[in-house]
Amino acid sequence: MPRGSFRGGIHPPENKSSTSGLPIVAAQRPSKVVVLLNMGTGSALSSLVAKGDLVHKGQKIADPIGRFGVPSHSPVSGKVAAIGAVRTGLGTMDQAITIEPDGQDTLDESCVPVENADSLSPAEIVSIIREAGIVGMGGAQFPTHVKLTLPPNAKVDALLINGAECEPYLTADHRLMVERPEDVVRGTRILMKAIGVDRAVIGVEDNKPDAVEALQRAIASAAAAGTIDVVAVRTHYPQGSEKHLIKSVLGREVAPGCLPFSVGVVVNNVGTAVAVADRFDRGLPLIERVVTVTGSGVANPANIMMKVGTSAIELIEQCGGFVGDPGKIIFGGPMMGAAVPSAEAPTTRGTSGILVLDRAESRSFEPMPCIRCGRCVELCPMRLEPALLHQWSEARLWSEAEAYHALDCIECGVCSYECPSRRNLVQAIKYAKAEIGARRRAARERGDK
Ligand code: SF4
Ligand code: SF4
Repeated sequence: MPRGSFRGGIHPPENKSSTSGLPIVAAQRPSKVVVLLNMGTGSALSSLVAKGDLVHKGQKIADPIGRFGVPSHSPVSGKVAAIGAVRTGLGTMDQAITIEPDGQDTLDESCVPVENADSLSPAEIVSIIREAGIVGMGGAQFPTHVKLTLPPNAKVDALLINGAECEPYLTADHRLMVERPEDVVRGTRILMKAIGVDRAVIGVEDNKPDAVEALQRAIASAAAAGTIDVVAVRTHYPQGSEKHLIKSVLGREVAPGCLPFSVGVVVNNVGTAVAVADRFDRGLPLIERVVTVTGSGVANPANIMMKVGTSAIELIEQCGGFVGDPGKIIFGGPMMGAAVPSAEAPTTRGTSGILVLDRAESRSFEPMPCIRCGRCVELCPMRLEPALLHQWSEARLWSEAEAYHALDCIECGVCSYECPSRRNLVQAIKYAKAEIGARRRAARERGDK
């Protein structure tokens, strides 16, 4: 098999050409930013400000409740206009801090670069990353400091930086690698120190040769050749899944139910590496990110450096607004993203794309009965049996779904995409995963073995 091959997976139309060559542009000043007090990973935050308070850009405005979360910072300077429930991109009602910008972008005095980065201990680096609110920027918003805090017996020898960006349409990571390769390398070095390894590999799909070249040049000029390598892997969805990229780049296989550190690897996204460089070299917490605004339903697709918490509609308007009748707005890409209930939905630190599909493209089809063609089984990159998992989920047979490894589903969407009967396979499996997780938590609370 060529490098980057794995069993299953697909090569859907890439649809990246409308933005892959466009430089990142700055967002226009938003009319407001909405900072959610729920990180989407189950961690809530408690507000440190009150309605009417004046805040600075980069000022900490919310602290996590519990060890798992990270703080949030104000993306703008301005006035706290409201604290209360808002409709999120997931359709839920959650608490949020709404800030009206004053247009000054006055930076908070806490936002200073880290002077002595080279003399810091791994624990100190991890603590700075946590305080800066840095999370995985590929979508899930998993806190980076948790990934970097390894169990005492873990033997990790490599950092893998995920630059695959295998989702169709999205080009935010691609542009970061082309335009800010030095920051990718700088962030990579800091992350290496945080986990105590002297080897890192940046994995990039081979449909981004300009990114590979830019990174190679940056590695050479940072005299990091030999410690940081770039590996181009085959363009094949879901190459950007952690487990598949580890296999493609390092040849190591993560066993079902295990995490990357079990094979000596920690994985972070290129956006996360840049966020780390921004914190250490410019003093900035994670308050901005690149988002690709694209799709058949938007006039002028673009890669935009936006303030976290800007509404989808303001970013779409910066791109010339809708073309025709928008059918669906998705946060993320078409394979793993989620349709948002309204164009007013606020973006988050995990919003990598805003995909607007016109009515014709977003037509939904009535699911038909399974014809037992076996295509979903053949193409599942995790070697699962999606048709059967769907059946267990519909019948609410959670033990059976668990026994058939529902929790190993990476929610890549390949099965649903390829099913000729258009069955909602991934939705049913996600539902089963949530139920199995809830049952496990309840069992733990009861003290069951
Ligand atoms: S079952 Fe899960 S991992 Fe397998 S193809 Fe479907 S979504 Fe992807
Ligand atoms: S791809 Fe669809 S029709 Fe074919 S076996 Fe899977 S669920 Fe059934």
